[in-house]
Amino acid sequence: MPALTQNQLNLLGATSGAYSVVTHREATGDRSITLDQFEKAVLSQKYRPENFKRRGGSIEDGLPERWPFYVLDPSNVMNFGTQELPIVYPKAEGNELRLYMQTSNGFGCNPNDYFIIFNRQADPYSIVGFIPSGSWDNFWLARSRIADQRFSIQNQDPDDVVYQQEVLLTQAGGLIQQTRMLQPRDPRIAKQVLENSNYQCDFDSNHMSFISPVTSRQYMEAHHLIPMSHQHFTQYSLDDVGNVVSLCPTCHKKIHLGLAEDKRNMLGVLYNKKAHVLQAYGINFETLCSFYNA
Ligand SMILES: [Zn+2]
Ligand SMILES: [Zn+2]
Repeated sequence: MPALTQNQLNLLGATSGAYSVVTHREATGDRSITLDQFEKAVLSQKYRPENFKRRGGSIEDGLPERWPFYVLDPSNVMNFGTQELPIVYPKAEGNELRLYMQTSNGFGCNPNDYFIIFNRQADPYSIVGFIPSGSWDNFWLARSRIADQRFSIQNQDPDDVVYQQEVLLTQAGGLIQQTRMLQPRDPRIAKQVLENSNYQCDFDSNHMSFISPVTSRQYMEAHHLIPMSHQHFTQYSLDDVGNVVSLCPTCHKKIHLGLAEDKRNMLGVLYNKKAHVLQAYGINFETLCSFYNA
């Protein structure tokens, strides 16, 4: 019955959408969804309602019964194929409009499942599908995780690979000239932090990586707890021993690309270790988490 919220639309990358709970009669009797006003409004952005066939009329209108739709696969949220689904006005008069299930093609449902219809800007057809009643929350959780991941990827530090290379070269005593990074940072500070941390992972000192030929110690990576891209938050340089942590390569990837709850857990441990420094920067724990979308 309701229209999708703006947050739900964002999670789907959709411009409009609606959903309703499938009734017992729809699922077991007619095997069709009677579209409500919200669903019709969504539909009418991609199709012309007057082009749908009317049944029960005395004159054959010659209009096609089946129209192409994208059909959602609830187990693989944004994976959908094109299918032709019957959509008709079942009665000679009135505006009742029904979309029929095609159980053989996977477009079927059980009572109390959710029917969803939404549009994306670039698509020629509406996306329709059924989400089992017990999977509704998980459907949105999976969507928000994908949105988190998109945020993480877009906010990746583009200089990180170069930076870690320069740290290694500095450890090897061989850095000739610093590459120009978007947010320049001094690899000697990182070298100092890795030494201070005794080449252990600051999140969990039990984490093992591998022996670096350069130091003969465990390979660790330097990470700026307050990301360099947030330098504008403070007058003090973020490229400082107090703001850099030593992380094993897995933890380093995880703090950039992991699940929000895992990032938050890591940030909690690291924040506690660096609390006095981060407070001096004027950054509290929640602000730090917001930098990571965690
Ligand atoms: Zn990093
Ligand atoms: Zn680690």
